[in-house]
Amino acid sequence: MNGHFAAVGNGPAAQQFGHGIQVIDEDKSFNTNLNDYLHETHVAEAGFNYHLISVFGSQSTGKSTLLNHLFGTEFSVMSESDRRQTTKGIWMSKNKREGANAGSIEMAPNILVMDVEGTDGRERGEDQDFERKSALFALATSEVLIVNIWEHQVGLYQGANMGLLKTVFEVNLQLFLKDRNAQSPRSLLFFVIRDHIGTTPLSNLRNTLIQDLSKIWSSISKPQGLESSKIEDYFDFAFAALPHKILQPDKFLAEVDKLGGRFTTGHRSTKDQEFVGGVFLPEYHRRIPADGLSVYAEGVWDQITNNKDLDLPTQQELLAQFRCDEISREVLVGFDTVITPLEEQQTEATRLGKASVLADLGATGAEARNNCVKAFETQASRYHKGVYATKRGELESKIDSRLKALYQGQLAAAHKAGVAAFSDAVTNAVKAGQKAGGSYEFAEIVEKQKKKTLDIFKKEAQSLLIPGVAWSNFKPQYRLFEKELDEVSARLRKEEMRRLAIRVERWVKSRLGDAIGLEFNKLGSGRGGTGAPETGEKPPSEKDLWDRIWNVFLSIVKEAETRFADRAKSFEASEDEVEVGLWRLRRKSWVALRERIEEEVMESNILMKLRENFEDKFRYDEEGVPRIWRPTDDIEGIYTRARESTLSLIPLLSRFRLADTYAPPDLVAFVGPQPPGVESEDEEDLPPIGGVDEEEGKSLEEETTILSESKRQDLVVRFRKMADGVFVEAKRSAIGGVTQ
Ligand code: GDP
Ligand code: MG
Repeated sequence: MNGHFAAVGNGPAAQQFGHGIQVIDEDKSFNTNLNDYLHETHVAEAGFNYHLISVFGSQSTGKSTLLNHLFGTEFSVMSESDRRQTTKGIWMSKNKREGANAGSIEMAPNILVMDVEGTDGRERGEDQDFERKSALFALATSEVLIVNIWEHQVGLYQGANMGLLKTVFEVNLQLFLKDRNAQSPRSLLFFVIRDHIGTTPLSNLRNTLIQDLSKIWSSISKPQGLESSKIEDYFDFAFAALPHKILQPDKFLAEVDKLGGRFTTGHRSTKDQEFVGGVFLPEYHRRIPADGLSVYAEGVWDQITNNKDLDLPTQQELLAQFRCDEISREVLVGFDTVITPLEEQQTEATRLGKASVLADLGATGAEARNNCVKAFETQASRYHKGVYATKRGELESKIDSRLKALYQGQLAAAHKAGVAAFSDAVTNAVKAGQKAGGSYEFAEIVEKQKKKTLDIFKKEAQSLLIPGVAWSNFKPQYRLFEKELDEVSARLRKEEMRRLAIRVERWVKSRLGDAIGLEFNKLGSGRGGTGAPETGEKPPSEKDLWDRIWNVFLSIVKEAETRFADRAKSFEASEDEVEVGLWRLRRKSWVALRERIEEEVMESNILMKLRENFEDKFRYDEEGVPRIWRPTDDIEGIYTRARESTLSLIPLLSRFRLADTYAPPDLVAFVGPQPPGVESEDEEDLPPIGGVDEEEGKSLEEETTILSESKRQDLVVRFRKMADGVFVEAKRSAIGGVTQ
């Protein structure tokens, strides 16, 4: 007879639920396919918008028949010929007459009906245990309990039905005992009186029944604290009578139809507390969301069969935990679909060391988050409020920890990419400026690129902001980024300063090249100090060679300093940076001068200069007219004077000394004290200067020594030889001149 019940494990699609589903079988096992049934009948989607009715009553009193007529169900009924128990355990079916217009009133949607095995059956009379258990189960789940009763049983206080009702009342009190907050809803006991002949009006039957119920209520032992409770505290009552199905089939059908119209939502009239509308009052609802009904029912049944005290609030909490976890997993699938590929993309980019900024991450993340939380809220908020709140918090922190990691990765990438882009953009703009003739403003370039780069970062950071979510505020990251850009700017400015310094140094070198060469060339004219004063200027003197060199050097350096400082200030270098630059410039300039002088006093060069100097004095007279030697001339005298005069230059040339002080220039004062901003890298390409960098062990005297003692000696010897040669030649030419 259980052929209607499909095999377990075939999956919902393969199941046939034509006769409903056997929720509890005759072995008291719970059918785990209940959830499939609820999904197949689309009740699972209904939230709270469903109703559950159970029918109670003695065996073979036409309960199944009634339900089948009322709700179009197909519960098995006893055949007229073979009177044997049919309904076993508890069956459930969805109302199939939904939308049927029962007396112009539509039935409520999603009515689930439970056909409970008759309890006082001759066949199973010994099993009072099941009666109690099924009553508990029905009370824990159902809004309405239909009590099916023959008319002739009404008033038979000792009748089987009364035993059933006593059980119902007792287990109900037991439930309330566990629920001190009295959150347990009321229930409706709906008496349907069968085979109503009509001689006793329904109102009389009703009064009789109510009296009996009161009697039963007073007879049951009430738990401590509930001694004075009244039956009305827990139950409402409704009554209907139906004519004899076999004797008055048409009337029976008409009345059943009318009865169907009462299974719709309703409320109590404030005047006489009578039903307005149907019997489904909101207060009867067990508030178990439809998608949790099977888990809840299973939990309840489990408690019941294991003879544990049924604690509905705990059951509801357990259900909420179970379902919230389930829903959480479900909604996370949608989140994963969107977010996991992005996480993978980011991980891969990081692995490859690439700064990959994911497009539209903020919008995508916010949408995924919102969808996920909203979906959870829609389904899970129907469950126990406290559990729901906790689980929602857990879900949020789960998705947020992932989003947070993703977003932080995104900003790290944006940071990296931004710094690189900024550095490149500035460098390229400088290059372009240099190409175009060097008329670029470094500070402007930096300013413009910084703003551009900051804007991009800011947009990205702002796009990641989730309103009301503190961790998504990335202002600190923005500030960090800005700080880094400033550091990069400082570095780029330093590079720019270096380039500027190199340019200015080159300029100094080239100016020194000309100017120092010129001063040394003047040595070649031996008439320094005695030359014709026709120009009115003080003629250059050999004695003040170094003064002239020092002065021209100072003026070149001064001009270079002005150029450097002006330019550096234009790109907003700091005072300190400018100071360091100028300090470096002075040092490098001195070194350049020193090198330039070195070049001039290279052996061949200086010997040539001395020769020119000597010849000028020897071969030309005071008027600058070349001498024609005659034997009578005092060749020796002129020679000796010219030679000694030129020789006197050698000590002069050997040391860089100023005429006024007869001391080397004050290089310490010239270079100036080392500014505080000097870093070790600034000093890298700076050779030590004697007398300035004292720790280097070279004195100022050494620094300003142009010719060493040995070089000097050597030079004297060579010069003398050369001069002697000139003298001999002159002597010969004088004699020769006479001979001719
Ligand atoms: P259940 O065991 O309470 O579910 O009873 P069933 O629906 O299986 O019906 C038991 C027997 O009662 C069947 O033979 C039905 O034909 C008969 N029956 C059904 N409804 C009525 C009714 O309204 N009056 C009478 N007298 N018999 C009925
Ligand atoms: Mg039945």
